[in-house]
Amino acid sequence: MKTKDYSFDTKLIHPGSEMDPFTGAVSVPIYQVSTFDQGNLQNPREFDYSRSGNPTRKALEQMAAVLENGSEGFAFSSGMAAIHGALSVLNAGDHILVCEDVYGGTYRILTRYFTKFGIETTFVDVTKLENIEENVKNNTKALFLESPSNPLLKITDIEAACHIGKKYGLINIVDNTFMTPYYQNPLDLGADIVVHSATKFLGGHSDVVAGLVIVKDKSLGKEIRFTQNAVGAVLGPQDSWLLMRGMKTLKVRMDHQSQSAYKLACWLREHEKIEKVYYPGFDNHPGYEIHRKQSRGDGAIVSFLLRDYDTTKKVLSSIEIPVVAVSLGAVESILTYPTTMSHAAMPKEQRLALGVTDNLLRISVGLENVDELIADFERVLS
Ligand SMILES: *Cc1c(COP(=O)(O)O)cnc(C)c1O
Repeated sequence: MKTKDYSFDTKLIHPGSEMDPFTGAVSVPIYQVSTFDQGNLQNPREFDYSRSGNPTRKALEQMAAVLENGSEGFAFSSGMAAIHGALSVLNAGDHILVCEDVYGGTYRILTRYFTKFGIETTFVDVTKLENIEENVKNNTKALFLESPSNPLLKITDIEAACHIGKKYGLINIVDNTFMTPYYQNPLDLGADIVVHSATKFLGGHSDVVAGLVIVKDKSLGKEIRFTQNAVGAVLGPQDSWLLMRGMKTLKVRMDHQSQSAYKLACWLREHEKIEKVYYPGFDNHPGYEIHRKQSRGDGAIVSFLLRDYDTTKKVLSSIEIPVVAVSLGAVESILTYPTTMSHAAMPKEQRLALGVTDNLLRISVGLENVDELIADFERVLS
């Protein structure tokens, strides 16, 4: 099947790897196995050991590559394992430029883990493109960014940033978790590597922790494959299957959740106890034009500032429909308190400098009835 010719919704259902090549089963079975018979030495089989490769994982990896318009995909045991895999293209002595409001776990792995191997990071506000050029050093090897960023949904011009990266020979890495390949394809905008926490929208049901790396060129794929096999933080067959199962409904979930998010964001914006609402679909959002240019949707994440800390506490303790938790992108709405949850790993001064204050909340809007969700907020805010 020539999947390249089809639109995204058809590719989600028919990525070309949806069928079991051995039996024709229309859902790739869970090959719950560690090792494969190698009796015939003259004719080695495709799979020998599930850390190196597994048929269920392979179907997912091919699906990921098709959806992100990449050449190869790799499935890891978490988003952080995927980010570790992508960052392992760096060597001791290398320097990387990273967006200042990067995901907390990425901040932690760069400042407390990769530093042990002599890899140096500079965090910059990449929404101002000149900051990239001004901070490139002789040993800078990569650029890592997120757009929209977390939790204030700042927008970076991915194409322009990657263009600068290319000029300096950097490997451009984009964390596309918030947009998913349905709304945004960084590889088409000049990125070399895309990473996902598939735990979020791709899985979509709060029932699997997983990560994906997709590369544009096979040469980088070879490096990622090496790390994936050497470290062994692979996604198991059961979770690979579960993730594919979730991904099939990505489009309908994203469409519905984004529509509800917009409605909730508009309602919050009008409320007297809400000071500010951050949503990239608002035409007064500073990154609105750029976001419209590089993506096809605004997503289901809305962040907002409450008038004071007491109101914030009351919302968190009295809200009924959303679960109050870390994570996002699921069928259930998830309300997060970034200060102690997603950004707990960040030093206080830096967190405050980024605008993550103690009256900030982030909601990932799920598939519940949005009018009931709004009524829930109305009640706790009154
Ligand atoms: C959650 C998240 C991660 C980490 O993924 P895990 O699956 O939790 O390891 C990385 N980047 C972003 C943007 C995330 O939201």
